[in-house]
Amino acid sequence: MSVTRFRFPFVEMPAEATQLRQEVREFLAEERANGGYTPMADCWAGGLSAEFSHKLGQRGWLGMTWDKQYGGHGRSFLERYVVTEEMLAAGAPVMAHWIADRQSGPQIIKNAAPEVRDAIIPRIVAGECFCAIGMSEPGTGSDLASVSTRAEKVEGGWKVNGTKLWSTGAHGPGCDYMITLLRTSPLDTSARHKGLSQFLIPLKSEGVDVRGIADIGGQVHFNETNFEDVFVPDSHVLGEVGGGWNMVVGELALERSGPERFLSTFIVLQEAMRLLVNNPTDQTKEVLGQVVAKIKTLRRMSLGIAGLLQEGSSPEMEAALVKDMSTNFERELLEKLRRILPQNVLYSSAGLLPTLLREGVLRVPSSTLRGGTNEVLKGMIARQLGIR
Ligand SMILES: Cc1cc2nc3c(=O)[nH]c(=O)nc-3n(C[C@H](O)[C@H](O)[C@H](O)COP(=O)(O)OP(=O)(O)OC[C@H]3O[C@@H](n4cnc5c(N)ncnc54)[C@H](O)[C@@H]3O)c2cc1C
Repeated sequence: MSVTRFRFPFVEMPAEATQLRQEVREFLAEERANGGYTPMADCWAGGLSAEFSHKLGQRGWLGMTWDKQYGGHGRSFLERYVVTEEMLAAGAPVMAHWIADRQSGPQIIKNAAPEVRDAIIPRIVAGECFCAIGMSEPGTGSDLASVSTRAEKVEGGWKVNGTKLWSTGAHGPGCDYMITLLRTSPLDTSARHKGLSQFLIPLKSEGVDVRGIADIGGQVHFNETNFEDVFVPDSHVLGEVGGGWNMVVGELALERSGPERFLSTFIVLQEAMRLLVNNPTDQTKEVLGQVVAKIKTLRRMSLGIAGLLQEGSSPEMEAALVKDMSTNFERELLEKLRRILPQNVLYSSAGLLPTLLREGVLRVPSSTLRGGTNEVLKGMIARQLGIR
């Protein structure tokens, strides 16, 4: 049996990252004090503020790792890690730019036509243009190769028909594009991953209809997007026609690898600790000790992934492992906190901690689904270990 090891290199934060952390903390403290935002749980998937994203763009905190020749800032993955980690820990409203900064920008830089890339990347870096992901469909989630939304070749471009589902943020102001996985040739059941292509579809195109879907808590953050005879020019095909599958695999590595997978509910823990550290019971000490130890471990692994990205690797398997462990931890964290928090917090509807807890409890079930379910990730991990 051949066993491929997972790599989580030890990463030391460089001095410039420490200084940057201080700057980010000062910015966040000032914003919060001035009413620029109210902390929320799961802020990267629910805190929509184009204005806040624009401010980050002005600070140089979007497109940080992208090459300067394309309009990025040419900084390290560790520096980007510091910014994302601090934003998440503060519960800041970072949803508007999150997808574009995390995965769409890198795809566009690598695969878009130069004139398209040059028109879009500087706008993403400035926090003026955002993107959505169009992979899932009504009948397609885990088994992505079964997408049926299709693009047919027409004069000068492609005609797109079909429906994408759960597209996070597609309804938001400034969300101008969806990177969309489409079938460009009929399904061949013996080679299901062939005949798929990625398109950069302008969401303002004629024939695109984005409709919000409310989640269990009544919040609209994802959508159903219908495409009816939508014309997409040839220039908006990403990479090679038919090469969509490999692109999606690379994109999912970026989607799964960041600190948002274990820090979505960190703000709840932080606020809870302010209360719980006063006269803690033995049970409280034990629970807090356990969760802090787990966060430390997950962070160490997650930083290792940032190190792999820095060296140019595509850490798909490491990302799958960390996402599986992290999202399980997020669920466990809230369950544990509910056991040790006082009744007046658990049953209150007012105040920051009860609000954060409610947001966390309502949103955390989605963490083991979005970006690939944990069952699917476990299948990938088992294959990597050679036991499946
Ligand atoms: C909050 C949220 C945001 C999202 N945002 C986006 C987005 O922006 N863009 C986008 O394209 N999609 C998005 N999604 C969709 C998400 O990627 C899918 O929900 C996910 O991939 C699962 O697909 P599905 O819902 O169709 O479930 P299914 O694939 O139908 O799975 C149903 C169940 O079967 C299990 N299962 C399926 N296949 C296997 C297998 N091979 N082995 C073991 N178990 C299996 C799954 O684990 C799951 O429990 C989002 C989802 C959520 C919850």
